[in-house]
Amino acid sequence: MHQDVKEILYTPKQLAARVTELGRDISRDYKGESVVLVGVLKGAIVFFTDLARAIDDTVNVSFDFISCSSYGNSTTSTGVVRILKDLDRSVEGKHVLVVEDIVDTGTTLHYLLDNLRARGAKSVRLAALLNKPDRRKMDVHVDYVGFVIPDYFVVGYGLDFAERYRHLPYIGILKEEMYQD
Ligand code: 5GP
Repeated sequence: MHQDVKEILYTPKQLAARVTELGRDISRDYKGESVVLVGVLKGAIVFFTDLARAIDDTVNVSFDFISCSSYGNSTTSTGVVRILKDLDRSVEGKHVLVVEDIVDTGTTLHYLLDNLRARGAKSVRLAALLNKPDRRKMDVHVDYVGFVIPDYFVVGYGLDFAERYRHLPYIGILKEEMYQD
């Protein structure tokens, strides 16, 4: 385990098992349909690549990516959302499944889901690996959720602190001393 991590919350094995289940649910719900998987950069990237491969060939899947402003080097949300990199293609008339790492205050997703609906998507749903409902400020419905967690600051499996720890293959709780001065 990394020396900056206090505790492992989900092992690679637990993550793989849950992602396989989510892929099955998504395959069942979109069977025979086309869906654009919209990955929210950069945190969702590891979850995205695993989840995409857990969706079976009865679904016609394409990929696109969007990047929104996030916390920067801090561990609390500022409440302001900006699109830093937009989708490459229009989602008008298409089924969209947004793939996100974690829903915390809900600020980012509330904005993003509204934004995609306003572009005329046929449907917009959300898959999030982690959900922290205790911290919610904005109402966000998560259609496919990996795990519900308490108010921990977690890293690994794509999640960072100041761009570090994204490559760790597990979800771990970051030691408080890493972000408290
Ligand atoms: P929200 O807008 O829901 O408050 O925040 C969503 C974003 O905040 C996530 O996409 C993620 O980048 C970041 N975030 C929220 N909680 C955590 C956490 O526990 N660990 C990490 N690494 N990022 C988090």
